[in-house]
Amino acid sequence: MTDDAAAAPTCLARPLPGPGDDRAGGCAAARGVDGRPLHAAALKFFWGPMDCGKSTMALQMNHNHARQGRRGLVTTRIDRSLGPQVTTRIGLAHEAVEVTDDLDLRDLVRDAWAEGVRVDYLICDEASFYNLEHVEQMAELVDKFDVDVYAFGLATDFRSCLFPAAQRLFELADEVARIQVEVLCWCGREGLLNARVVRGEVVREGAQVVIGDTVDTADVRYQVLCRRHYRSGDLGPRA
Ligand SMILES: [Zn+2]
Repeated sequence: MTDDAAAAPTCLARPLPGPGDDRAGGCAAARGVDGRPLHAAALKFFWGPMDCGKSTMALQMNHNHARQGRRGLVTTRIDRSLGPQVTTRIGLAHEAVEVTDDLDLRDLVRDAWAEGVRVDYLICDEASFYNLEHVEQMAELVDKFDVDVYAFGLATDFRSCLFPAAQRLFELADEVARIQVEVLCWCGREGLLNARVVRGEVVREGAQVVIGDTVDTADVRYQVLCRRHYRSGDLGPRA
């Protein structure tokens, strides 16, 4: 829910699909005089390494759309704060819907519509931790329900392999963009890969998702490295 969802006008620009309504184009977009949709929804995936400002950009995008009168929902999974919100390392926070294995993003939108809450877009933070089904649901929200979906996440895990959901987003998204806020390796080169560090050593085997942080004191932490130093396992002079 957005902060001002309760005050959102209930005037709806499009018919409300009921639960189970899967008519093709079940929520038809308004059309211009030439018959083309006035607004074509899109699935966009913004990716980058840890610390590159993905969550900050997600919340900025939510703010920009809300300011233009659009209404959206923010979702996340395994946020650093371990609560139902998106938090950023520069101190911004926004309440968010926690994405669980059982959550169907289409139901999330349908339920909001059923309550008279408009949903023009979804902001899906930490999308690389979602299931493959969630990515398919994102595509369906765009194609059948004309809801924009903006997903933000890591591309690769600590082994430098694509997360399954990130791979599917690369395959399905209308637009894929690398976030341009650079995070630097200790050597000054552009950071690209997320190294998992356990007791001061780069590890390359283990569970795909282990909660850690990027502060030096944690047992498990992550450090963004350039490819050269990721491959050599060199954490730099401060490690
Ligand atoms: Zn480096």
